[in-house]
Amino acid sequence: MKDESTPKIDWRTESRNLNANHSIELVRCPSKGSNSSIVLTTKAFWHDTHYWRGKTQPCTGTHCAACRANAPIRELGFIAIMSPKDHRTKILQITSQAWHACEAYILLHGSLRGATIKQERPDGRKNGRVKTSIVSTSVAVENLPEPPDVRSIMEQIWEVTDRTTYADLRVAGGEGA
Ligand SMILES: [Zn+2]
Repeated sequence: MKDESTPKIDWRTESRNLNANHSIELVRCPSKGSNSSIVLTTKAFWHDTHYWRGKTQPCTGTHCAACRANAPIRELGFIAIMSPKDHRTKILQITSQAWHACEAYILLHGSLRGATIKQERPDGRKNGRVKTSIVSTSVAVENLPEPPDVRSIMEQIWEVTDRTTYADLRVAGGEGA
């Protein structure tokens, strides 16, 4: 049968995805070379994670499938940064070792906001130890954008929100019910 209904073109003057958190990228220290980022937030958010099934996933507590599979736990921290290359807001993954350098900096300067955090892996290995240094920069702190909600962005990246059930996770992980 012929469809006689009219096709609909629905223009908007503002992108629906303009402020969507999922466009915010997670940055890890590269194995070769280094990355430099301007810190937007003064606070790091920490979570236990597992490197399991080829990716870093959050430990989800009582019924965590990775825990049941005896996957080792690694605590990771996440801070909001701006990349000086493309001026985009991103999330940077850090280790508690790296945070020691941050705390020393906070002690001297009062805040981490506006500082440049530089990460590299001296041994050049993909998961090698990360060396972190923090230096002050001439950035006008008051001109920096407000940090995004690091926790909710990570929950979206991990696809675990306050509405996710363990059943959802099993489907996503392909484990079956
Ligand atoms: Zn776990």
